[in-house]
Amino acid sequence: NLLLFEEVKSLAIRDGLTGVYNYRYFHEVLTHQLEVSRRYGWPLSLLFLDIDNFKIINDTRGHPEGDVVLKTLAGFLQSHVRHADMVGRYGGEEFVVLVPQSSKTQAFHLAERLREEIAANSIDLSQGQIHVTVSIGVATLEPHMSGEDLVKTADDAMYHAKQSGKNRVCCPEGV
Ligand code: GH3
Ligand code: MG
Ligand code: MG
Repeated sequence: NLLLFEEVKSLAIRDGLTGVYNYRYFHEVLTHQLEVSRRYGWPLSLLFLDIDNFKIINDTRGHPEGDVVLKTLAGFLQSHVRHADMVGRYGGEEFVVLVPQSSKTQAFHLAERLREEIAANSIDLSQGQIHVTVSIGVATLEPHMSGEDLVKTADDAMYHAKQSGKNRVCCPEGV
């Protein structure tokens, strides 16, 4: 029964395809971390990551292979951040990494390290390998911000990274 309970709980909070936390649970944790950060005066940062040209991967390799890319990338993110950081799937090919106790500069360096490693490595598919790149927006909590504001700021920065040519990290007002 305990195992069954754990399994049901995992289904409720994790994304079925990639195994990282789902959108709903990410928002619960965000609300909690925001309160903790405010209470103790700690910084809180967020990475918003979107795969570049993912539609082309689906169109040329097929949707199941696109799923493999999503799973591989999620596993990569999970294994390259600290246990205290939280990886979630935000949308189709969008992931978030919540980074507690990290300043904008620290979060930017994490984002840049992830971006570089993703670009440098290839993903094994059934018909050969594929290279993917990602665009990442970084945001850090400011006194007037809500959780939604934090997500929107990081999402806007990610959009800016796309506009500036993709495969890059952007921060509002720089680092
Ligand atoms: P950009 O570089 O601007 O981000 O372009 P893009 O092609 O990555 O972005 P776009 O939003 O045009 O396409 C995202 C694609 O992601 C479209 C959708 O079919 C695909 N997608 C969403 N969820 C899934 C999924 O679970 N599996 C697969 N294989 N594809 C998915
Ligand atoms: Mg997208
Ligand atoms: Mg995309």
